[in-house]
Amino acid sequence: MKTFEEMGLSHELVAALKRQNMTSPTEVQEQAVPLALSGRDVIVRSKTGSGKTLAFLIPILNKAYSGDRSTVLVLAPTRELALQIATVAEKIRPREYGVATVYGGASINVQIDMLSRRPRLVIGTPGRIIDLMKRGALRLNAMNAVIIDEADTMLDMGFIDDVEYILSEIPRERQTLLLSATMPEKVLKISKNYMRDPQLLTVGDEDEITVRQIKHFYFVADGARKLEALLSYIESQNPKKSIIFLRTQREADLIHAFLRKQGYDVMLMHGGLTQSKREHSLKNFRKGVRFLIATNVAARGIDVNDVTDIINFDVPDDPFIYVHRVGRSARMGKEGKAFSLVGFKQKSMIEEIKYVAKVDLHQLNLNTFKYKDVVAKFFAESREHRHGSRFGGDRRFGRDRRDFHGGQGGGRGGGHGGGRPFRRDRGHDRQHGHEGQGHGSGSGSTRRFRPFS
Ligand code: ADP
Ligand code: MG
Repeated sequence: MKTFEEMGLSHELVAALKRQNMTSPTEVQEQAVPLALSGRDVIVRSKTGSGKTLAFLIPILNKAYSGDRSTVLVLAPTRELALQIATVAEKIRPREYGVATVYGGASINVQIDMLSRRPRLVIGTPGRIIDLMKRGALRLNAMNAVIIDEADTMLDMGFIDDVEYILSEIPRERQTLLLSATMPEKVLKISKNYMRDPQLLTVGDEDEITVRQIKHFYFVADGARKLEALLSYIESQNPKKSIIFLRTQREADLIHAFLRKQGYDVMLMHGGLTQSKREHSLKNFRKGVRFLIATNVAARGIDVNDVTDIINFDVPDDPFIYVHRVGRSARMGKEGKAFSLVGFKQKSMIEEIKYVAKVDLHQLNLNTFKYKDVVAKFFAESREHRHGSRFGGDRRFGRDRRDFHGGQGGGRGGGHGGGRPFRRDRGHDRQHGHEGQGHGSGSGSTRRFRPFS
């Protein structure tokens, strides 16, 4: 294996990486760094947890260490991801090198102030970036490069207009890098509109979008039985550190209350919470809290060490969401488990995930009976409370609005009734006053793959 030193990187950067206990590049870094350093446009496709962040930060910072004065913009779909990228950059940047992170839900004045100090690296979410551009606080006409992380989401319906506008403000001679674990053909095609003779770099097996060390399990249940199965899974499998994904903010609140009631150490993160609460939750989860309850907001790009189990309280209705969710575990070659609760009506998703994500899912045997009383008691008690009656024990989960936006709104999310919704992960951040705005329901079709229709 090559070392960073042998890649010919600047000594200061190699030393900075070493202080972070990193001496050798991952595969994607070994391949992408020289390409990016050559100045070419590159599309990097490499599985979740393979080290894509440093694959783009190393070339940027290596140039900075070598005295190059270029400025770079990094686009990310969520605030949490923008912050995470910034944290990595902060740890290995040259001392005088300014990094600014800009995203909605936080004081724009503080960010305007940060930008006035002329940072060389700006990391942000599209909505806030556009806000700042319109206020004249952020000028893109001097940017030399743009990086689009989670590029397939960013070039899809929900973001494309904003991203296109941002790109149109950056000079044509720029370098453009795109990174993602999943890169549907259609997205690849449009990406060419924004790039100059891009090189497509696929690391590993093209089919391998999620890590192999994950073992996948599922259990079929609906209504209150899902809670019984959840408890049964937790008590029999004893996950060390786990993210539990839910579709809606309300369900997330419910499961959060339920697990706390059972005495578990659990944090909550969804778009209905303030930015500081979300950061607090993520921080504590990183520090050692055992469970994080999250909506899709948290699924993209978030890197927490040592997550052992991903629990899908609802199996996602898009295989790509499944991939990005389970990609939060088994990072950097560690082992992990993914467990999905599957409603009777969703059973066909198992085959779809097997087919698209190229993974094997096994049915798990769980003794749910043991937990019947505990769950019934919880429902009876919560019924007595304020919103108790809405959480009727036999009520199906998964009917109400989904947390697409990382925001409060989402007024158009209803109306799907019991049918299979087509919309996908909108766990992103739109920040100019319309966080909750829908993006039209047909939008998922670009990525959907339906082998059985
Ligand atoms: P991706 O974006 O591909 O999902 P990340 O960039 O979030 O992956 O990296 C996943 C994890 O791997 C992070 O915790 C990061 O610190 C670690 N990592 C990345 N590169 C290296 C390296 N060269 N050596 C050791 N650990 C690394
Ligand atoms: Mg990433």
